[in-house]
Amino acid sequence: MRTSRYIPETELEMQRRIAGELNREIEPRGLRFYIETFGCQMNVRDSETLKGWMYEMGYSEATDKENADLILFNTCCVRDHAEKRLMGNIGALKELKDEKPGLIIGICGCMMQQEGMAKKLLKRFPHVSLIFGTNVLYRFPEMIRTVMNGERIAVTDRAEDAIAEDLPKMRDNPRSAFVNIMYGCDNFCSYCIVPYVRGRERSRRPEDVRKEIVSLAESGITEITLLGQNVNSYGNDGTTGMTFAELLRYVSDVSGLKRIRFMSSHPKDLTEEVMQAIASLPNVCHHVHLPLQSGNTDILKRMNRKYTREQYLSIVNRLRELVPDIEFTTDIIVGFPGESEEAFMDTMSFVEEVGFAAAFTFAYSPRQGTVAAKMEDQIPESVKKRRLQELNELQARKTVENNEKYIGHCGEVLVEGCDFRGTETMLYGKYQNFKMVYFPGSPDLLNRYVCVRVTKTNKNSLLGEMIHA
Ligand code: SF4
Repeated sequence: MRTSRYIPETELEMQRRIAGELNREIEPRGLRFYIETFGCQMNVRDSETLKGWMYEMGYSEATDKENADLILFNTCCVRDHAEKRLMGNIGALKELKDEKPGLIIGICGCMMQQEGMAKKLLKRFPHVSLIFGTNVLYRFPEMIRTVMNGERIAVTDRAEDAIAEDLPKMRDNPRSAFVNIMYGCDNFCSYCIVPYVRGRERSRRPEDVRKEIVSLAESGITEITLLGQNVNSYGNDGTTGMTFAELLRYVSDVSGLKRIRFMSSHPKDLTEEVMQAIASLPNVCHHVHLPLQSGNTDILKRMNRKYTREQYLSIVNRLRELVPDIEFTTDIIVGFPGESEEAFMDTMSFVEEVGFAAAFTFAYSPRQGTVAAKMEDQIPESVKKRRLQELNELQARKTVENNEKYIGHCGEVLVEGCDFRGTETMLYGKYQNFKMVYFPGSPDLLNRYVCVRVTKTNKNSLLGEMIHA
């Protein structure tokens, strides 16, 4: 059994004091920040904390980099070419720094925890003065103070894999919020760098998760997404006394909470207990993002995914039996080392059989330091490209098929945004099972729940009409 280590309150108090001191200096000078976030919801959530700190330190938000006094890049190392893109972004700021010597340029996020990365960036970009990893967000005020005093620093200490509660947050979205329930990952899928950069699994205390959700609901948030690399293994570190299904039950009665989403789920840990919770709790949404990665059991084994094609299928079938309107979305990698044409066709037949509502598809690309990057039987780029195209064409057809079954469907939609198309205003939002629908309506309905009937579909989405607000 491991114990999640928490950052002591005295340390957090010290950081808040530093933020207060900086505020007296920064606010009167009207300094502004600009933050650019790459990658997954974890990074989006981390950026909300950084924004919270920056407001607490007296910064306001700039609309563009040119008008900022502090520019932060919150990076991701999971996606392809991320490093190259970052280098381009940072290099382009050299001139701005020459014009504004007081400008602070910082880089954070999981890419900074890749071995040797921080050192490499500090050496290559003398105009960058601050680098830090995902585990030290709580020390942000102290880091800013050091940099304002003229030092250049890199703080990527992996020994600090601990949980910091009650950090400030600035959430832009008035209707939905991400809530971390755990950090890190223990799974070591052979292609994935996350466990190396975000550390081992640590689950938050259930009472802290609930406290955050209660306060979000009190502020008017009605939809939350519980976040973790693998939410189904919540509590597996033995520190919470609660499983993920129990956590769902524990937070589902928070007053005012209409929708509970969660991501991501790992098929190997999606238990009958979780399925029963989805089926029985009225505000748990009927959507599971369940990364498949491959439809071939041998490839799944090489990926170290710890489930078979049949086991994945039995989860889909069981959930469909319990929750008939459930929708599945997924992630799939093609061209994983050793993937034969037959193995690829297994993925194709699986996608045909399951009928995912949507799939995020990728051609495998090696991540330095992972087991798969060292595998010998890498697949030629041209083959990967062709397989990706075939898979995308198949999924496009399956998405159309999936959409067609919604003609005539009527249900509650949370309005997320609007598009102005000529003289018409089209609103869009999701049904509780994650299907997106567009319909004409007034922007006043933004962030509200309305009832929408689907009248037709196009390639990617549903089109409908509002029945009532
Ligand atoms: S479950 Fe696998 S793919 Fe997901 S973050 Fe963990 S190691 Fe990476």
